[in-house]
This record gives sequence, structure tokens and C-alpha cells, in this order.
Amino acid sequence: MSFIIGKSCVDCMDTACANACPVDCIHGPINVGGSGAEVAAQGKEAFPGGQLYIDPDTCINCGACVPECPVSAIYEDEDIAIKAGDEESVHKNYEFFGLKYA
Ligand code: SF4
Ligand code: SF4
Repeated sequence: MSFIIGKSCVDCMDTACANACPVDCIHGPINVGGSGAEVAAQGKEAFPGGQLYIDPDTCINCGACVPECPVSAIYEDEDIAIKAGDEESVHKNYEFFGLKYA
């Protein structure tokens, strides 16, 4: 089980969540280990359609990222994301880190 970043993050990408994460498990939109630094360096306009993702293998489900998100894009687990109609984001979070959600 892991927190999941949903589609509301697309084109927002302010990286506030990545800065709040105590285990450094939020990355993207391109670099799987960069904590969103490419957005800070190049601006979100350089990544149209991009979003950040949570590494499900590393997330400790602490919730620290949730209040930081200005667009309420972060779901507390996969089931909540799916019930909200955002199953695609569940798979995207896993697949970004080379994982598969079963
Ligand atoms: S729930 Fe905690 S560990 Fe998981 S992504 Fe959010 S801040 Fe990081
Ligand atoms: S705080 Fe929200 S919108 Fe910003 S990068 Fe994180 S999930 Fe995306």
C-alpha cells in the first residue's frame, strides 16, 4: 500500500510535496531520483503533461505530503484513488519506478 499522486498534479507540479517527504520518495516528472529538481531548474512549462510520482516501495504512508498539495492531488492509498476514478494514476505511480500494481 502506498500514497498515490493523482491526475490533478498534471501541469501543477509545484514540488511542495517532494520537499515535505521525510523519506525522499517523490520524484519526476522525468528523473526517477531527482525529487522534482528538474521542475525547479527548468520550470514546469518545460514538462507539458507532466506530474510527480510516489515510489510505492519507499513511501511510509506518513501523510506529510498531503497538506502540502495545493490541488489535493494525493490519495491515501490505491483503493481510494481507484474509487475516485483515477486508477490510471495508480499504475502511473508504480510504472514510473519500474514497478507493477497487481
Ligand atoms: S505519505 Fe509520507 S512517505 Fe509517502 S510520499 Fe507522502 S510524505 Fe512521502
Ligand atoms: S504538491 Fe501536489 S501538485 Fe505539487 S507536485 Fe506534489 S502532488 Fe503535484
